[in-house]
Amino acid sequence: MADYSAAPHFTGGTPTVRTRFAPSPTGQPHIGGLRTVVFSWLLARHGNGQFLLRVEDTDQKRTVPGAVENLLEGFRWMGITPDEGPEVGGPVGPYFQSQRLDHYAYYAGELLRTGHGYRCFCTKERLDEVRADQQARHLPTTGYDRLCRTLPPEIIDANLAGGMPFTVRLKVPLDGVTVAPDILRGEVVFQNKTLEDAILLKSDGYPTYHFANVIDDHEMGITHVLRGDDWLPSAPLHVLLYQAFGWDMPIIAQVPNVMGNDGKKLSKRHGAEPILFYRDNGYLPEAIINYLAFLGWSYDDKTDILSVDELIRAFSLERVHTAGAIFDLERLRWLNGVYIRALPLDDLLARALPYMERPAAEGGLPDTIARPLDRDLVRRVLTLDQERMKTLADAATLTPFFFEETLAYPPEWLIGKGLDAATALAGLRRAYAVLADAPAWEAAPLEERMRALADELGQKPGPLFMGVRVAVTGRKETPPLFETMLVLGRARSLARLEAALALLAAHTPSPA
Ligand code: GLU
Repeated sequence: MADYSAAPHFTGGTPTVRTRFAPSPTGQPHIGGLRTVVFSWLLARHGNGQFLLRVEDTDQKRTVPGAVENLLEGFRWMGITPDEGPEVGGPVGPYFQSQRLDHYAYYAGELLRTGHGYRCFCTKERLDEVRADQQARHLPTTGYDRLCRTLPPEIIDANLAGGMPFTVRLKVPLDGVTVAPDILRGEVVFQNKTLEDAILLKSDGYPTYHFANVIDDHEMGITHVLRGDDWLPSAPLHVLLYQAFGWDMPIIAQVPNVMGNDGKKLSKRHGAEPILFYRDNGYLPEAIINYLAFLGWSYDDKTDILSVDELIRAFSLERVHTAGAIFDLERLRWLNGVYIRALPLDDLLARALPYMERPAAEGGLPDTIARPLDRDLVRRVLTLDQERMKTLADAATLTPFFFEETLAYPPEWLIGKGLDAATALAGLRRAYAVLADAPAWEAAPLEERMRALADELGQKPGPLFMGVRVAVTGRKETPPLFETMLVLGRARSLARLEAALALLAAHTPSPA
């Protein structure tokens, strides 16, 4: 075993708050994991402490290339900056567990020396047989039968001399209880006889999750460990490890997992995606942070909108709930819309443009629309659409007709509800004349003229206006009609009305 007699510890004085996110790079964390990130980061910022990123890449077979880079990109986008981690380094690195194998080897040696751990020489085949036998006998608990726990020293020596591979296991007390403190739940009591002598170090020298996690949290001076409550079953093993080493435990909060709004485990089906998905789909990072902060935490019983600065000031573990949190994509979209409406126009313009100008295949405006877009036009369009946008990506889906040369839509759309084709055509002809005649191209007078026309025709304004709306936009849903026509301008609006008249005329049977 490597001699590693000077394990580096956190040396930055008495740490106040040091939190960490410790992902395994086996994929991208989605909402549940990100919520833990946000809590940990807010807690560190609130306490004027540090937030660390540590990559738990000890399962090399499951490591996905690019996972760490993606995560860091997501963090950068969210404005969540680790104070220590793979990118920025720090005093207690390395921050990849695969680069810390000497630490784990050293501490495994410590456990062997103090009798809290033992070498297990059992082969995989033997372990499989033990399990199969336990299952066949319907034993209530299955698991390692502790054969090697009591191996005589001469056998151990002989095995070692013969170069036999071994794992290091934790010697779990056979009776009594282990009490796992959890700041959210109080003390959780586990019967030791239900616990297994877990493997800490595998025969290839790689640690298991429990072992590496506890050692690193200790060495890195972590004061508050936040993790999903699916890790609760590991809690007693962690406690036993802290006890075996004689280390103080950090404060532990096993945060209730995030569920879908059908009460089931969160998945893509519920709209739960990795962080960059939300960036690419036009969510604002500040809305995401706000939303995630309230997934299982509350400020009071009515507030649900707080800026990042306010969250940092307000966040505390006391107000984290123990009931499961529900992820609701519609609510996130609503909140995102609130944030979009609050943006100053220049800010909205700067943020929305990339979404509009990206290729159509990535969600941008149709490729037939020339880039770069006319900034002045975009500004006027966004003034109209800001109210209706839920995501920045909506800036591309709601607005193409402002930029397109020609519109394509079915002629029937020009026929307002309750009208027949001939009446709609006659109405649209009159509308064209009234609009073409308007002395000023301004929203209020245009609307006045059109209302007067509806009266004169003895029609309701709705169906008449719908024909005009479709004519000038190609859509049935748009921002307010006359303001839209203002942005389009007189010439374009009238040209589109002319095109619509031709389309509808061709579609309308001429009176016999
Ligand atoms: N590597 C573990 C994970 O992927 C860390 C859990 C913890 O925070 O202890 O979730």
